[in-house]
Amino acid sequence: MQQRILILMSDTGGGHRASAQALKAGFDERYPGRFAIEIIDVITDYLPWPLNQMPKAYPFLSNDAPWLWKLLYGNQTHGLSRTLSQVGSRLAVGRISQAFEQHAPDLIISVHPLMQVVSFLAMAQMQRRIPYVTVVTDLTTAHPLWFHPQVDAVYVASDNTYAMAEHAGLPADRIHLLGLPIRPAFAQPPRPRPELRAALGMAQDEPAVLLIGGGEGIGPVEEIARRCNRALGESGAGQIVVVCGRNKAMQERLAALDWAIPAAINGFVDNMQEWMAACDCIVTKAGPGTIAEALICGLPIILSGFIPGQEEGNVPYVVDNGVGAYIEEPAEIAATVARWFGPQRDALSGMSERARSMGHPQATFDIVNSIVGVLEAKTA
Ligand code: UDP
Repeated sequence: MQQRILILMSDTGGGHRASAQALKAGFDERYPGRFAIEIIDVITDYLPWPLNQMPKAYPFLSNDAPWLWKLLYGNQTHGLSRTLSQVGSRLAVGRISQAFEQHAPDLIISVHPLMQVVSFLAMAQMQRRIPYVTVVTDLTTAHPLWFHPQVDAVYVASDNTYAMAEHAGLPADRIHLLGLPIRPAFAQPPRPRPELRAALGMAQDEPAVLLIGGGEGIGPVEEIARRCNRALGESGAGQIVVVCGRNKAMQERLAALDWAIPAAINGFVDNMQEWMAACDCIVTKAGPGTIAEALICGLPIILSGFIPGQEEGNVPYVVDNGVGAYIEEPAEIAATVARWFGPQRDALSGMSERARSMGHPQATFDIVNSIVGVLEAKTA
């Protein structure tokens, strides 16, 4: 009989849903037919108003009100967010235990920082302890609410989050440092570059910079694209790929631009692994998923910004490991790319090699195998 796995996520940022889908794909590929896996958006679909409005507030909080975000995230104010989460969890616990009764999972996977407290309250109320693991989808800085001492396993992607799990009271045999759960497509070696570039309509011989603004196409991507067009046009080497995400207006404006270099302007792409494998460096905000994917593909990274709180530590992670730079100013980003494609090509290859050595292409499968081990141990 199929065993049931319930994945708890919420759409606060693209990463949680993407991680949930990556894990589901990993189970389906490695254990075909063995598990029935459901993904639920706990906050939107199960919580009462106004708690269910939280995902809508996320873009506002992280982009427009960073001071408030910092307050919820700041080291000195963790007590505040813990109190808020406990109040919210008490309001939500009835609905969550109903969800657990309804889905009747053999194992629960959480990919969201706000799920732990309410889930353990719900299980206490139900007087039923369902095997429960947390997969942390932040890379280096993470909110302490991710780490609950009673989980059967926690999966982390950096020394920093490992230390946070230890600090929360988890013993070493329940903490697993395996990398972020990235879509299984990144675990496959890419097609040869000439073939990829031909299929993607790119120029064959020019080095390529990939600009992405996260799933929603936020950030100063447009200005960076214009500056790269000018700088690479003047230096005589380079091509550009822009991924605008769901930002249609920006996509249209960039498509209409008078390009001095070969340019591929995309909306939301679902073959990111191909675009990354076909390019030579990437400019992005400090999103954990994008950084982990870029490392797997050996792409040196220019970080153009970060969300205060959970993305903050990703900046030193990239810079201190020698796989890229943090530059906010679009003209300076463009000048750096032009140097990397010109006099600093050797430095670019060095960063590329270091990036590849830091990547975890098999992370999703390693996490999935370990979770199956937890389930087998619990049901033996
Ligand atoms: N992404 C994608 N297609 C796009 C734009 C983004 O597949 O057109 C993916 C990207 O590869 C990454 C995720 O969206 O896996 C973004 O996650 P990240 O953690 O970098 O940032 P978030 O949007 O969650 O803040």
